[in-house]
Amino acid sequence: MFAVHLMAFYFSKLKEDQIKKVDRFLYHMRLSDDTLLDIMRRFQAEMEKGLAKDTNPTAAVKMLPTFVRAIPDGSEKGEFLSLDLGGSKFRVLKVQVAEEGKRHVQMESQFYPTPSEVIRGNGTELFEYVADCLADFMKTKDLKHKKLPLGLTFSFPCRQTKLEEGVLISWTKKFKARGVQDTDVVSRLTKAMRRHKDMDVDILALVNDTVGTMMTCAYDDPHCEVGVIIGTGTNACYMEDMSNIDLVEGDEGRMCINTEWGAFGDDGALEDIRTEFDRELDLGSLNPGKQLFEKMISGLYLGELVRLILLKMAKAGLLFGGEKSSALHTKGKIETRHVAAMEKYKEGLANTREILVDLGLEPSEADCVAVQHVCTIVSFRSANLCAAALAAILTRLQENKRVERLRTTVGVDGTLYKIHPQYPKRLHKVVRKLVPSCDVRFLLSESGSTKGAAMVTAVASRVQAQRKQ
Ligand code: BGC
Ligand code: MG
Repeated sequence: MFAVHLMAFYFSKLKEDQIKKVDRFLYHMRLSDDTLLDIMRRFQAEMEKGLAKDTNPTAAVKMLPTFVRAIPDGSEKGEFLSLDLGGSKFRVLKVQVAEEGKRHVQMESQFYPTPSEVIRGNGTELFEYVADCLADFMKTKDLKHKKLPLGLTFSFPCRQTKLEEGVLISWTKKFKARGVQDTDVVSRLTKAMRRHKDMDVDILALVNDTVGTMMTCAYDDPHCEVGVIIGTGTNACYMEDMSNIDLVEGDEGRMCINTEWGAFGDDGALEDIRTEFDRELDLGSLNPGKQLFEKMISGLYLGELVRLILLKMAKAGLLFGGEKSSALHTKGKIETRHVAAMEKYKEGLANTREILVDLGLEPSEADCVAVQHVCTIVSFRSANLCAAALAAILTRLQENKRVERLRTTVGVDGTLYKIHPQYPKRLHKVVRKLVPSCDVRFLLSESGSTKGAAMVTAVASRVQAQRKQ
């Protein structure tokens, strides 16, 4: 009995020491509530800047009009195709919206690989590849004889002047195909599809994944007016009053704005909170100097941040007895799924040991505790930053509506949010703390980003049909 107590005492002392050590080392990554409120206000100013005509050209946060004006009202129906390019997986699907008058979405889908030669090669070949996958899907699902409308979820910043057109501003994340920037991706894909004579598909909508997520959630909950992605990349959209959107004619009603919050800080607005690790990660990325907020938050980067921190700590003799391994020196060896596994409740510490051993290290008990805490600090910071920007959006919605309390729903999708054991809880808690006057419901939208393009297409054809009546 005494021995057990002694062990517990020993472990809690060890834990306390390790946590203190890491907290001290990563002092700059722990953001106080005051800092978060400050970041929230900065993001509010960024949104203003992106929306106003004269400041938009130089704004880091682009606030792109999406030409999505209506959320689903439940009367949508029909069969639609949708493609989802730019998330963790490339997917083609067929969506059946409503059956026998019932609100209901049914889907059949197929994942296709996205080899790096394709996504970082020649742009025309990328679109031909996408069209080939669609043709393959239609063949296996026996759809080739049908004329179906298609919605394209394209998870990159695009400047739109209508729903069925979008000019790529820049690639982000792992994509970097040549000759696509500054061209309309809808016509690029349409052209590639023409090579398949037996396929008759009409692209009716180009949709950002955040917009798709919001639309999918809005089908189940009409209060949903915000969509957030915390996956490979990160971003959010929300419904803005037309009277505040300088770039689009008209003052009636609302339109969905794709904020492209991942670019927050690209003009230097976040230099005071970026750390040496953020700078090093950025320099080694495909798009240095770009998407700086995203690089502190999203799934493509969290593991790499942890790796850079562990390496520096090992070099300083604070971990692994000063030993490093070649894996620890190798970019990309720690992934977000590892971070999530290390932070698991109960199994976390055992997972941490296993992961470190796989990296060729010989961790002590103390090392495992310390590494686990590094992961917690990095993923906490990610959730905190997301919460600050989201709180700014909610405050804006509340101000637009001039209500004392805002009741709203946020649709969320993305691998990080889905696989990380504590992420959702932390995010929700901080948002509620930052905007106590909002009653927020968070709705996880399973496959929201993919289904959403079909939803947008469905709404577009409903609105079209209503106009004809
Ligand atoms: C893109 C956004 C996208 C987000 C999430 C970012 O890198 O710029 O358009 O919504 O990733 O996929
Ligand atoms: Mg996605």
